[in-house]
Amino acid sequence: MRKRWISLLVAGVLVGGVLAPASPALAAPTFKVPFPCGQSWSGQTRSGHSPANAVDFNRTDDQGDPVVASAPGTVDRVTDLGGTSYGKYVRINHGGGYSTYYAHLNGFNVSVGQTVGYGKVLGWVGTTGGSTGPHLHYEQRLDGADIKVRFNGTLALYWGTKTYTSDNGCSSGGGNGTVDTSGTPLTVRSGPGTGYASVGTVADGTRVTIACQTSGTTVTGTYGTSSIWDRIGSGRYIADAYVYTGSDGYIPGVPRC
Ligand SMILES: [Zn+2]
Repeated sequence: MRKRWISLLVAGVLVGGVLAPASPALAAPTFKVPFPCGQSWSGQTRSGHSPANAVDFNRTDDQGDPVVASAPGTVDRVTDLGGTSYGKYVRINHGGGYSTYYAHLNGFNVSVGQTVGYGKVLGWVGTTGGSTGPHLHYEQRLDGADIKVRFNGTLALYWGTKTYTSDNGCSSGGGNGTVDTSGTPLTVRSGPGTGYASVGTVADGTRVTIACQTSGTTVTGTYGTSSIWDRIGSGRYIADAYVYTGSDGYIPGVPRC
């Protein structure tokens, strides 16, 4: 018995030694779209880009729009290359060999050595350096080499143009609102629209916590006409047109569902 027990133990150690990596791989940071919570930007990748995996972001009238840190880290470059290359750019070191670049900025809002978190404004969209119009040139790098960009772990579109909506710096606590229907109970739907099943009602005057907001059926209610729906629980949505939130449209800091 004793001999057999020892040999099993040795076999276990050997198997463990083979399976265990020499050093654990460092997980990539959770990178988020480099614009404030709730904003939608058109991101373009193209094989002729330099470097190839960079993303160019645009939206209407984007000159001067804030650019934010896509993950926590330390600012390690705030550089102005003048009329060439990146122009005014910021680099953030996220640790583990990961860094991000934000180029062609109009101006800076951070300095070298500064610690930044999600949603921190780094600077503003511009067209400095080798740029022919306002846009944000954005890169993710690992050990200095550009890598294919991921947001929340999901690979960006290679190659092509796609709309990316930011949940960067969205408050995790959600928002609040008060149902106002002038007396009638408000129907709760299983999804963001009047075509979804009714799953109950909330009484007029009910205070609700809004976990996230999304676009659905257009509804005309107490507060005008809106296609915004508020998620107030798992599989529970109400039309924002009947909810006083203090905001016209989406509530700042509340994520998109
Ligand atoms: Zn570019």
